[in-house]
Amino acid sequence: MGLLTGKKGVVFGIANDRSIAWAITEKLFAEGAEIGFTHLPDKDPARPKNENKVRKLVDPLGAKFVVPCDVTLDADLDSVYRTTAETFGKIDFVVHSVAFAPPSDLTGPVYHVSREGFKLAMDISAYSLIAMSGRARELLNPGGSVLCLTYLGGEKVIPGYNMMGICKAALESTMTYLASELGKDGVRVNAISAGPVRTISSSGVGEFQSMLKLYESFSPLRRNIAPEEVAKAALFLLSDLGSGVTGENLHVDSGYHIMGAPPLDFQEKVPL
Ligand code: NAD
Repeated sequence: MGLLTGKKGVVFGIANDRSIAWAITEKLFAEGAEIGFTHLPDKDPARPKNENKVRKLVDPLGAKFVVPCDVTLDADLDSVYRTTAETFGKIDFVVHSVAFAPPSDLTGPVYHVSREGFKLAMDISAYSLIAMSGRARELLNPGGSVLCLTYLGGEKVIPGYNMMGICKAALESTMTYLASELGKDGVRVNAISAGPVRTISSSGVGEFQSMLKLYESFSPLRRNIAPEEVAKAALFLLSDLGSGVTGENLHVDSGYHIMGAPPLDFQEKVPL
């Protein structure tokens, strides 16, 4: 019997086999969960590239449904939760692993971010947690759990993370407010602040290569994390193992976030 046997939920945010949501999904399936998925809607229904990429991964593991969802569209979210209710009745978890900022706004300095880019990035990367959790509230069993993915750039300035750091600050604050409100229903809301992982999203972040190098030399564990390590923490937060934890931002980042200055061996290599 797995830690999630009999537990049901929805995962938003698989794009391909590098997605953090995919690493989490593999772990949840291995522990017995029943899961429905969303994919980014395809522009050309005759060539459903996004849907096929997700189906190729999740169908062999027994996905309960795979439906399109653009999180900026209320109709799409309503449809996802309609399917969720029809398929499962009640659910036990929701995984929010979604983010986007227009490349021109993500790579430039924050003082050049456009109004439209800001609104879109905030809508997809932060408001979506409200949109998902509000709809899930009716369906979540007591003991249920909502999880989102964030990055240290929401807490501290990480050069290159720019606009997305502002979105992550909003996401993390949203997570705590939702945790305080949903707690009376026995529902927990948490975040994992993951170290850098090579994915489609991270390829759009400026200075991403230097981030990876910094974690190798600067973090207490002196290495980057593996997506499976995020998945193990997700299992903790989504299962009964994390039953007393809510409103938490759990860092899975080789300890990078605790450092206030480079380790001494790093300073010897790169004299300041
Ligand atoms: P990814 O590109 O695999 O996943 C991002 C997902 O967001 C994709 O599935 C994409 O389809 C989805 N998405 C974008 N716009 C959407 C929209 N309008 N509607 C619905 N879905 C939409 O990249 P990832 O790195 O796995 O990112 C997952 C989460 O992890 C994000 O919140 C990201 O910020 C966070 N994160 C990533 C890293 C990293 O280094 N990769 C580190 C910390 C946190």
